Amino acid sequence: MNIILLGPPGAGKGTQAERLVASRGLVQLSTGDMLRAAADTDTEIGHRVKEIMEQGQLVSDDVMVEMIHERILQPDCKNGFILDGFPRTVVQAEALDAMLEKQGLRLHMVIEMAVEEAALVERITGRFACAKCKHGYHDIFLPTKVPGVCDVCGSTEFTRRKDDKAETVHKRLEAYRAQTMPILPYYEGRGILRRVDGMADIDVVTQEIEAQLNKA
Ligand code: AMP
Repeated sequence: MNIILLGPPGAGKGTQAERLVASRGLVQLSTGDMLRAAADTDTEIGHRVKEIMEQGQLVSDDVMVEMIHERILQPDCKNGFILDGFPRTVVQAEALDAMLEKQGLRLHMVIEMAVEEAALVERITGRFACAKCKHGYHDIFLPTKVPGVCDVCGSTEFTRRKDDKAETVHKRLEAYRAQTMPILPYYEGRGILRRVDGMADIDVVTQEIEAQLNKA
């Protein structure tokens, strides 16, 4: 099954994708993670990507389409994938359709995680992740069980994303509204868009998504 999790930054796409990887054996394709890995390299493209991300803007469509195209061709995607953070523009959505069709693949469902914008800044600025296993946490909504110790791997090192600062978050939300929201009618017209309440408790959101996927 190939699905897209769509929603603004802070909607919980990464958290839910991680759960779907565990429950359904799908591969999570997070373009944000791929770009952060690229930004960590001392290359021209790495420096350019880093600058764009820190400004809360979108990386160009051609770079993104090429990146996801290469990734989807990898053998581990054969059993199905979850796109997390892609597509983010109508151009990307159209390019995705074209590349899937060429591979004889299709999109089964696009899940929109609807969240009130007022809640997003608090959600995003409180995020942190284990430096070792990358498991995600939140200062208030999802703290570690033992303070300072990762629940999953026991590491005591954590990281925060540079673009999770309040100033950048507003720019990222603006980019979502202007460039990503127009994708919704694109998928709605094809009858594969489903909406879940991203304001609900994390476990409830997971149940809602699983219920939708069971109907596919
Ligand atoms: P995310 O981790 O999905 O919030 O992505 C972090 C940042 O990476 C975004 O704010 C963009 O700068 C960039 N990015 C991630 N995915 C895309 C995409 N599909 N198109 C353009 N830029 C992207």
